[in-house]
Amino acid sequence: MVLPKAFQKFRDVQEELARSGAAIFRDAKGVDSLVVRSPYTIEYIQSYAEDSPFFLGLAEGKLLGTRCTNRRCGYRYATPRSHCMECGEPTEWVELPRRGRVHSWTTCHFGGEAFLAETPYNLALIEFDEADSVLLVRLKDCVESEIYVGMPVEARFTPSPKYSITDVWFVPAR
Ligand SMILES: [Zn+2]
Repeated sequence: MVLPKAFQKFRDVQEELARSGAAIFRDAKGVDSLVVRSPYTIEYIQSYAEDSPFFLGLAEGKLLGTRCTNRRCGYRYATPRSHCMECGEPTEWVELPRRGRVHSWTTCHFGGEAFLAETPYNLALIEFDEADSVLLVRLKDCVESEIYVGMPVEARFTPSPKYSITDVWFVPAR
C-alpha cells in the first residue's frame, strides 16, 4: 500500500491532487492532513438585474460607474450603485477612466475556485480622479513588493468575456 505523497506547499498539494487525487499537506507545525479530490459541480443561474450594464460594459472594454442624479449631491461610484448611498436618489451610468491609482491592496495566498490557480495574487482597491468611491479588482503583472499606495495603474479587459468581475483587472500603468 502506497500512501499519498506529502507536501509543505499547498500549490504542490494541488498539483498532486490533479495527478493522483490524493495528497498529504504537512503544515508549519508538522501536522499531516490528508487532502482528497472529489468531483463536485453546480450550475448556477443568476441575474445581474440593474447591475447588468457594468458587466456588459466590461465585455466592450469599458469600465462603468454610476453618478447620483441629485445635482446637489452628485456622488460618483466606482463600484456602481443603482441608488445613491448618500442621499437615496437614483444614479445614472457613467464611463470611468481606464487609469487610476492603488488606494490599498492585499496579497492573497488562497482564494476561491476561480482564483486558486493564480495564487498568490494581488487584490487592490483602485481610486479614480473621476470617482468618489473605489473599485476592488485584481492587480496583475507585478509582485507584492512592487506595489505602493498611489501607484498608477490601468485597466485590462479579457478578449473572451465571461460576464464576471474576472473580465477586468489592472496592471501598472506604462
Ligand atoms: Zn446622492
